[in-house]
Amino acid sequence: MTGPLLGVIADDLTGACDLAGGVANAGLRTSVTLGVPTEPIPADVDCVVVALKSRTVEPAVAVAESVAAARFLRGVRVLYQKYCSTFDSTDRGNIGPVADALVELSGLDAISVGTPATPQVGRTQYLGHLFVNGQLLSESSLRNHPLTPMTDPDLVRVLGRQTRHSVGLIDHAVVRRGARAIVEAIAAERSVHLLVDATDDADLDQVAAAILRLQRPVVVGGAAGLAVALARQSIAGSRHPVSQPVEPAAIEAGPRLIISGSGSERTREQVAAFRGPIVAVDPLELAADASTFAGLVKQLEEAVRRNAADRSDAVATSPTVLLSATASPEDVRRVQDELGTEKAAALVEDALARLAVLAVDELGVRRMIVAGGETSGAVAAALGASTLHIGALAAPGVPWTVASVRGRPVALLLKSGNFGAPDLFTTAWKTAP
Ligand code: ADP
Repeated sequence: MTGPLLGVIADDLTGACDLAGGVANAGLRTSVTLGVPTEPIPADVDCVVVALKSRTVEPAVAVAESVAAARFLRGVRVLYQKYCSTFDSTDRGNIGPVADALVELSGLDAISVGTPATPQVGRTQYLGHLFVNGQLLSESSLRNHPLTPMTDPDLVRVLGRQTRHSVGLIDHAVVRRGARAIVEAIAAERSVHLLVDATDDADLDQVAAAILRLQRPVVVGGAAGLAVALARQSIAGSRHPVSQPVEPAAIEAGPRLIISGSGSERTREQVAAFRGPIVAVDPLELAADASTFAGLVKQLEEAVRRNAADRSDAVATSPTVLLSATASPEDVRRVQDELGTEKAAALVEDALARLAVLAVDELGVRRMIVAGGETSGAVAAALGASTLHIGALAAPGVPWTVASVRGRPVALLLKSGNFGAPDLFTTAWKTAP
């Protein structure tokens, strides 16, 4: 293979890790960078994922950052716009405006083709409608998302409200006829953006095979599912074996920390299932009283130190503290009504990120789970992590990663809100580096 196969622009960090974990597991050498790097693409990777934090920023900012990432990725065989498998966005964007910009950058007759379908985590698309674990998107818990409530399951309509261009559908009947039928249907389409149905991995493989055969410039859009199918198809069609470099990760023993800033239903289950000390972060208290943060520092120090006092050095048995802002949808709404959605999010993200830095710098924490896409982005940025080496999968879509934090390797598991089984906060440590 000359140059990387896949150049991915991801709109959040946990999504980047989700995709990178799957693609690495399929056999591509993969790295994730936080933001657009200044160094050129390393020669020995098959997939470069540029993780932005652009899901909920102003559309113009998301477009500018995505275009900068696309310029950095020039020369890759497939340019991939990674968004959430639940199509998290609002009528202002950012999936549509970014797709418009990437298509316009890619040439006069360029199109975008994609699907958020990722059947392995229960996301399927049928007749343009997105299902989450068999439930229509708008009837799933995503209707209550704090920042991007998803109340319309028809993605052709959802994307149509976000873009200057036309949106079409390649439906399931075509997909079931295979890659050649998909290529023909795409050639016959006049729309600039095409969503493609997929209800299982076999569908995604046909879509991926079709994309690799297209003659015109294409920007691929989707979640982890289609990217992993592209990895599978390219490996199947390649005579060059690809292999993943093994990253030796010498990570010190130390207390473990879970940070949860996600309001998603699955994270709420994981928090409820957690048995251990919890330090709770209340945004209303943070907003009302400047001394609240100092109080949290003290509580976290005490909880970690108390646990560390009787910790064994064995990683599998070292104790864990949970630092959590996770609350019920009603409580989140109450906070948002009082503070405003953005201010509430910023207060929580800032507090959790500063406490993460304290945990690594002063409390010796070397292994950390972070729940929530925005939350993970804020924590990783505060830690100053610039590249994540992708390691073992703790669960589908959730790989352990290793980052260098001021010269020290730290294991981070950055988890999108709805990912992982309810007992992930206990089981994930078994696969930790
Ligand atoms: P997910 O991956 O589940 O969407 P995110 O971290 O991306 O999780 O988004 C959750 C957002 O909600 C974050 O911006 C976080 O700061 C904010 N948040 C977390 N807890 C609360 C709370 N109790 N009240 C209001 N906002 C909150």
